[in-house]
Amino acid sequence: FSLFEEIPRAPPDKIFGLTEQFNKDENNKKVNLTVGVYKDNDGLVTTFPTVSKAQKMLEQDEKRNNDLSYLPIIGSPTYRRSVLDFLFRESCPSSGPKLLEENRISFVQTLSGTGALAVAADLLSLFISRTVWIPEPSWPNHINIFKRHGFTDIRTYPYYEDGKLCVDKWLEHLRKNVKKNDGIRHCIILHACCHNPTGLDPTREQWQKILETVNELKMLPIIDMAYQGLESGNPPEDAYVLRMCLDESRYKWSHGLFLCQSFAKNMGLYGERVGSLSVVVPPNQPETKTNIESQLKQIVRSIYSSPPGYGCRVASIVLSSPSLKKEWHKDVDFMVQRLLDVRHGMCERLGWSDLVNYTQQHGMFYYTRLNHHSLNRLRDEYSIYMTMDGRLSLSGINDHNIDYVCDAFKSISR
Ligand code: PMP
Repeated sequence: FSLFEEIPRAPPDKIFGLTEQFNKDENNKKVNLTVGVYKDNDGLVTTFPTVSKAQKMLEQDEKRNNDLSYLPIIGSPTYRRSVLDFLFRESCPSSGPKLLEENRISFVQTLSGTGALAVAADLLSLFISRTVWIPEPSWPNHINIFKRHGFTDIRTYPYYEDGKLCVDKWLEHLRKNVKKNDGIRHCIILHACCHNPTGLDPTREQWQKILETVNELKMLPIIDMAYQGLESGNPPEDAYVLRMCLDESRYKWSHGLFLCQSFAKNMGLYGERVGSLSVVVPPNQPETKTNIESQLKQIVRSIYSSPPGYGCRVASIVLSSPSLKKEWHKDVDFMVQRLLDVRHGMCERLGWSDLVNYTQQHGMFYYTRLNHHSLNRLRDEYSIYMTMDGRLSLSGINDHNIDYVCDAFKSISR
């Protein structure tokens, strides 16, 4: 008898588990449309040209490159400065600078977007709330993260129905289930853009209605911005939900706001784990920013002590050089244009016109609405792998496999 035998096997990860299966598949026509990693037209995950340049610059800067000592718990000072500037000066020029000047943003460098969400959930569950509202459907890891990090009450709001967003239903559901005065204890996750898994985002007008309701119910927004730039091709432009939230003449965030942000997708720094958590605190509370930052420090210290140093140096170089930053925007735009080409190519072949609905469809994913039977057939008969919710990662499609994939889609019914 061993105590260890009491540990049951956990189910495989919904997304990474499929990649393991894909790797074992011997069909040379196999196509992996599961993970949200950008691949080029030859199916390769390549380094962004700007990121390569920044890496070379870093290599030449021996002092910085060879410094393998610990970073401060809340992150590299240079990274902190450049990301705060990027998020709150460039992305939110009308409201952000004032927040920085008023010292109202607690900030910590995190292990990408996942780390930002986990640290946010720890802080919230320790001091503020254990209730969170997550869209249905959402990135499956949202539930895992909030469950693991102290949340006991995980609820969902309707987001999608019959191929469309259902904003009215969403807001009605919140109004019915969140009482006005206990809203302050209800957190709500909002995907900033390029919603995962549906690829469907509210329009600006819809966002206005959503934010009015969230504000009216005094809910605490957690903005998850993992795909900034993948909607318009211009990273600052895509922070529109953050901008709308921070416009204090319209929304009185009496109790603040959380922003979880990642450079995994928009700089291709996936494995380097480069991201941040910002907590925007209410006005006229001089102690709050520092108090929150001190708690964030304790949380980080007890989990991984301090963040890794390489990726954040690369990101800082890109963000702090005006010319590299311009080139970076071009890299992002190039990626977005290729994803749009894939959408058009598929729409031409399959007639799925919602693929190219610019006002709502954005980013890496398309929700096919294929059922389990069809998804199993695609995998078993054609070696085409998609997640079981029918999400398709568009970047896995390229000039070499688009006909094969579309023919397979035609041969099975939707
Ligand atoms: N939020 C959403 C909605 C995502 O899709 C992802 C990436 N799949 C993340 C957060 C976090 O990703 P990372 O930790 O790689 O930055």
